[in-house]
Amino acid sequence: MIQEQLELLRSEIPDNVTLIAVSKTKPLSDLQAAYDAGQRHFGENKVQEMVEKAAQLPKDIHWHLIGHLQSNKVKYMAGFVHLIHGVDSLKLLQEIDKQAQKAGRIQDVLLQFHIAQEETKFGLELQEANKILESEVFKQLKCIRICGVMGMASFTSDVQQIANEFQGLKKIFETLKAQYFPDATCFKEISMGMSGDYPIAIQNGSTMVRVGSKIFGGR
Ligand SMILES: *Cc1c(COP(=O)(O)O)cnc(C)c1O
Repeated sequence: MIQEQLELLRSEIPDNVTLIAVSKTKPLSDLQAAYDAGQRHFGENKVQEMVEKAAQLPKDIHWHLIGHLQSNKVKYMAGFVHLIHGVDSLKLLQEIDKQAQKAGRIQDVLLQFHIAQEETKFGLELQEANKILESEVFKQLKCIRICGVMGMASFTSDVQQIANEFQGLKKIFETLKAQYFPDATCFKEISMGMSGDYPIAIQNGSTMVRVGSKIFGGR
């Protein structure tokens, strides 16, 4: 089942888009099945759960922390996390930088933007991101590499609205790229699209889709 779903997704998703298998709440056996089917990028939304799973699974897995992140949790994953998607404050960037330095790593992160109409979703507005990126504090950070942006569309059946929100994130990406990262080849990722909307996300420029229930079943 997991293998078939992965094969189906791979046949739909272009080569230049990374498929992240979102395995939150799922048992190790499910992750192992996905691994055995060739999957190497996994996403979790809780640090502790990711740390526990990472300890018990093969070491060539790329772990993505996709959920909202609290500063006091960063230290537990600083030694191994591949990409942190949900960064939405300078304070968090400072803590990630500090822990990455301790671990002797450069930490790749994405800035999360608020693109949905719903109030509840986390994320920055463009002006807030500008303020962070122009701050002296940010410029002093040595162990952070900003690789792009992340966002979640509204939970709605209105396909046009979802497309508009994803287009908005693409535009934010392009604005930031032009203004702050024109020569940074690592600034290239747009993490958008989940089980319910990944085809729309891909049509609108996604480079990373975070798919859970479509691979592993409902939670
Ligand atoms: C749970 C989650 C996903 C995956 O959701 P599905 O609808 O199961 O594909 C993607 N992104 C984030 C941030 C999540 O928390």
